[in-house]
Amino acid sequence: MGFKAKARKARQGSGKDDGRKRRSRELPDGEKPCAIKDCKNWADKSHGGRSIAFDNLADVWEEDQLVGESRRLAICKPCYRHYKKEKKDDESQTW
Ligand SMILES: [Zn+2]
Repeated sequence: MGFKAKARKARQGSGKDDGRKRRSRELPDGEKPCAIKDCKNWADKSHGGRSIAFDNLADVWEEDQLVGESRRLAICKPCYRHYKKEKKDDESQTW
């Protein structure tokens, strides 16, 4: 984490979020990183993330791209959209 990140923070730092520091990797409850290895987005529900069964994710991504050991992994919104696109065949599936 270099000065670039700091500069970015300073630019958007005109307000309310100042009290909440989020630079640590120890995230407050409910803030989950996306389970896709290359992805840096949040997969928290408040960020539009979804929780998907590992087996389903493995149909779309390589297994070594998936981070996490549980049966279901949380992915972020953009990844979920990608996932939906790739899984189009399964539209008959009920949610
Ligand atoms: Zn993602």
